[in-house]
Amino acid sequence: MSNDLEVENLVRDFAAFRAVDNVNFEVKQGSFFSILGPSGCGKTTLLRMIAGFLEPSSGDIRIREKSVLGVPPNLRPVNLIFQHLSLFPMMDVKENISFGLKRRKVSQAEINKQVSTILERVGLPDYASKQINQLSGGQKQRVAIARALILEPSILLLDEPLGALDLKLREQMKIELKKLQQEVGTTFVYITHDQSEALVMSDHVAVMNNGEFEQIDTPKNLYTHPGTGFVADFIGENNSFDATVSSTDPFKVKLDMGHEFFARAMTSLAKGTNCKLYIRPESIVINPQHTENLNKFGVVVKNVLFDGANTKLLAVIENTSREIMAALPQDKRFDHIKPGDKLDVGVYNDSCTCF
Ligand code: ATP
Repeated sequence: MSNDLEVENLVRDFAAFRAVDNVNFEVKQGSFFSILGPSGCGKTTLLRMIAGFLEPSSGDIRIREKSVLGVPPNLRPVNLIFQHLSLFPMMDVKENISFGLKRRKVSQAEINKQVSTILERVGLPDYASKQINQLSGGQKQRVAIARALILEPSILLLDEPLGALDLKLREQMKIELKKLQQEVGTTFVYITHDQSEALVMSDHVAVMNNGEFEQIDTPKNLYTHPGTGFVADFIGENNSFDATVSSTDPFKVKLDMGHEFFARAMTSLAKGTNCKLYIRPESIVINPQHTENLNKFGVVVKNVLFDGANTKLLAVIENTSREIMAALPQDKRFDHIKPGDKLDVGVYNDSCTCF
């Protein structure tokens, strides 16, 4: 399948500050691509360049193989949805959605047809004459999407569109947005600092940090095969420890609190190098029955944290003051665990990743 978007060596400077630093990526037609990163990493700057509100300092942006550099926003085949959806409060749903078509001088009969088709698509078939202030947050979201999609953009750009919604609605909208994107088949480029949004909805996610892309991958690979320490830290939960490489074959590291662990080097790390060791909470085995390929250690339970679906164990590694978080499997054998208990735990060697 061909690419809807290609971004090449893109740079944007604000005086001496580089907000976007040599970013490269492509987005396949009909896919859901997210740019995920902490506040201030350059996501909005990148999106504004794609939309045409900001010119790059250097590099190229191609939409359906044509460079759009210098093309004004209204002539680019993209549409942008912001967190504050900027719907027109004085107009009803139909007037909001048909606004762009009217400006394109489309006939009223054609507008009526297209509005009812798109309202059907976004699941609001009977809402044409509703006022904007009569809609819920999720319904407003869908109207904003309908208003953008009716203009048939090649790419829909979404800038944290769920940010203003409450938690429950955000959870629902994540699933709905993904469904909607699959149904309409439009390419979505979505920016967010919320990893769960990016992971749930996207075909591919680019993790951005300090103006650069750290890794572009499927949600699953980002979690299971993070390419950098930043990604390992940023995606999902991870316990991290300062360590030094004590042997390269087999690969072993010495932790800052003295333990030596067999581990997996994710980049080339020479003996004596300082590195970070990451251990996912769910890769910690409580009371392991086998010891093969396992780093074993003792912990003292500090707290049992229950959040409804999951239980986590906050523990201190024995004879140290270092805390470690473990996910408890749903198993009655662990129901009795309480603060103060001493436990044997283990982590498989290849679940200990080092950068
Ligand atoms: P957030 O998630 O908080 O919106 P972001 O990842 O979208 O953050 P940007 O808004 O792209 O980040 O900003 C990236 C960096 O560029 C920030 O440090 C910001 O202060 C800086 N920046 C953005 N616009 C300008 C500007 N017009 N002039 C100077 N610096 C700017």
